[in-house]
Amino acid sequence: MKVLTIKISLAFIVLLSLLFITSFKFISLNTDKYERVRQRMVREQIVARGIKKQNVIQAMLDVKRHLFVPQNYERMAYEDRPLPIGDGQTISQPYIVALMTETLDLNKNMKVLEVGTGSGYQSAVLAKIVKEVYSVEIIETLASKAEKLLEGLGYKNINIKVGDGYKGWKNHAPYDAIIVTCAPSDVPKPLEEQLKEGGKMIIPLGGSITQELVLLEKKDGKLIKKVVAPVRFVPMVRNDGKRY
Ligand code: SAH
Repeated sequence: MKVLTIKISLAFIVLLSLLFITSFKFISLNTDKYERVRQRMVREQIVARGIKKQNVIQAMLDVKRHLFVPQNYERMAYEDRPLPIGDGQTISQPYIVALMTETLDLNKNMKVLEVGTGSGYQSAVLAKIVKEVYSVEIIETLASKAEKLLEGLGYKNINIKVGDGYKGWKNHAPYDAIIVTCAPSDVPKPLEEQLKEGGKMIIPLGGSITQELVLLEKKDGKLIKKVVAPVRFVPMVRNDGKRY
């Protein structure tokens, strides 16, 4: 009788601990362990530096940046810096993503072209704000990785294409806004043509190491230029790897 009681209580304890372990695992998988860190990133790096538009701030709070960096960089995902994403490319510093997005004055009815999908992070931020995002990436492995990730996260308004973004994406032009996340030395003519009258383009222009972030606004068919900030982007390259 005593042995049986001990056996039953032992079985009960085992059952309880199993339940405890599985529920703990369930909770840790379903909570966002970086939520606090992300909120601090937005407060200290984004809002404190003067980003004001609510739609941009909300998108930066919503998009889980740690899902867009390689696993070994996950814990650095919310730091004030760009990070490597493989193939010699980088995901931009959070503040630069927010600054470029804010400068374009976006809203829910807009169609945006992005050149340089990379990790897909900037595309995700844009997709939270506008109606449709078209993004072109020249490195196939990056494009397919970003596409899978964004699909898995449930984004329905991001369209990714492998190709040379210097040429834009003519089928869906004209665009309300264009964001270029790799640096050519001059404004690509096709991008100028694919920008709507009254539309804005943000683009890093200059040398292969450092550039000026430039805002271009199309007025009466001409581009009006405003320098926003000094920046460092990876170069915009051709299919043969040479720089534009
Ligand atoms: N927006 C990205 C940043 C990517 S870095 C993000 O949020 O992660 C710039 C990207 O531009 C790289 O992935 C690079 O492969 C790509 N790129 C360079 N030249 C290009 C070109 N001509 N057309 C399209 N993409 C290009």
